[in-house]
Amino acid sequence: MPTAMLINGVRVPSATGEWFDVCDPATETVVGRAPMANEADARAAIVAANRAFRSWRTATAHERAELLHEVARKIRERTDELATQLTLEGGKPLLENRDEMGWSAACFDYYAELQRNTRGRVIPSVEPSQLAMVLKEPYGVVACIVPWNYPILLMSWKVAPALAAGNTVIIKPSEMTPLTTLLFAEIFDPLPPGVVNIVTGYGATVGRELVVNRDTHMIAFTGSFATGREIARLAAERVKRTHLELGGKDAFIVAEDADLDVAVPGVAWAALLNAGQVCTSTERVYVHSSIAKPFTERLVEFVRALRLGPGSDPNTDIGPLIGARYRQKVEEHVDEARSQGASILTGGRRPPQFARGFFYEPTVLTNVDHSYRIMREETFGPTIPVMAYRTFDEAIAFANDCDYGLGANLYTNDPKKVKQYYEEVKAGTCWVNDPLTDNDAGPFGGMKFSGGSRELGEEGLEAFLETKHVHWDFNQEKKAWWYPYRT
Ligand code: NAD
Repeated sequence: MPTAMLINGVRVPSATGEWFDVCDPATETVVGRAPMANEADARAAIVAANRAFRSWRTATAHERAELLHEVARKIRERTDELATQLTLEGGKPLLENRDEMGWSAACFDYYAELQRNTRGRVIPSVEPSQLAMVLKEPYGVVACIVPWNYPILLMSWKVAPALAAGNTVIIKPSEMTPLTTLLFAEIFDPLPPGVVNIVTGYGATVGRELVVNRDTHMIAFTGSFATGREIARLAAERVKRTHLELGGKDAFIVAEDADLDVAVPGVAWAALLNAGQVCTSTERVYVHSSIAKPFTERLVEFVRALRLGPGSDPNTDIGPLIGARYRQKVEEHVDEARSQGASILTGGRRPPQFARGFFYEPTVLTNVDHSYRIMREETFGPTIPVMAYRTFDEAIAFANDCDYGLGANLYTNDPKKVKQYYEEVKAGTCWVNDPLTDNDAGPFGGMKFSGGSRELGEEGLEAFLETKHVHWDFNQEKKAWWYPYRT
């Protein structure tokens, strides 16, 4: 298994020759190791990316499209291998990781084509002898810093549009899940050396160097609010462009007309996919008081029937959490809620059948309110706290009573409620009767503490382009408004 990094088209170990272990969260055993890059490795990648930028930026849209389609083709060709590796280090069920590879390939195909259509414009000039143009051009070198929950998809949402726009990139995967990304050293083979570089290691060293180094020109980051804020601060001191996709605390409103045969599994899916470790996981459910009892009873019954296990087992619905400290946070939120008076209707503990692995039982809670941390802070685990509401205005107010604004969900067929919901809820994505569906053509991102950036769609390509206004006069002549002619 190649675990070398990729710098200037060459597979290399770290400068110091050091490695770090990567664990399977289902068994807590070491399943591989990755190079422990330091600042020197980051700088080598930055030099390579800057050198490659000179020719990559002038490649034609057609040439770039062919190469990006080739990357997509290679992802599809190796889906099984990539998905198996990702299940081993990330814990998600294999089926979900196969989907992740499919979506990632689709993203490369999408931006291969989109970049052929979007460019600047010619604008009216102020003199007849002039041509005035608004050009869109790449930033240069983009550092793509990625989390562990969807490491390949979130890498693709950055790398595909960044390359399509003519930038070169340095990928820094999470230290929890670097191995699948390292396999991409081969997937990116068709690209010229230095156009894509991959460095592994810790955020505080190699990640930070990518942010502060004056020869990276943009930082595309997905991860926690705390890290995003630190990166924003470091970048602001250098007036460097950032693209931030941060955490969430998504609300799910279930109206009184909801079909419970659909809403119960729909809410469970939105809350428990990837063991609740999706940035748009439902972390708060608001259900109309008239149906709160049957909804909750059926939700508990549904959740109890879900099967926990390693992602490699085809019968598994829900895998482990990624690591000890992440499970500890979930436990703190649930235990604190319990001690404050919440009712734990199912779950609320480590499953006794697993001696090892970072498993946590899917948990349904009621008797909670917004004074509980589990209703305010990102839990990032398999928890479904349910609150009843009386009026739709109250449900919207509950949904908005949160620092985050990534996504939101609603089940109803009442068009008046739908309109009020998408007009008033502060969230970057509003799903109606369609929890958590992705669409490459639509922008994805958040409001408030979730970051203001957008990936995917036309906005996702625009993000990697900057604007230049060109004034071109065909005549070299003195202007009437210069010294000493002006009156
Ligand atoms: P994290 O912030 O701990 O780490 C993300 C990446 O940043 C990692 O590669 C890490 O090594 C790097 N990093 C850490 N410190 C750094 C520093 N000082 N400078 C540069 N890089 C640094 O996040 P995580 O635990 O890997 O991911 C989970 C978080 O990601 C959750 O909060 C989740 O909501 C969020 N997320 C958001 C989206 C979205 O699209 N909005 C998608 C997925 C995950």
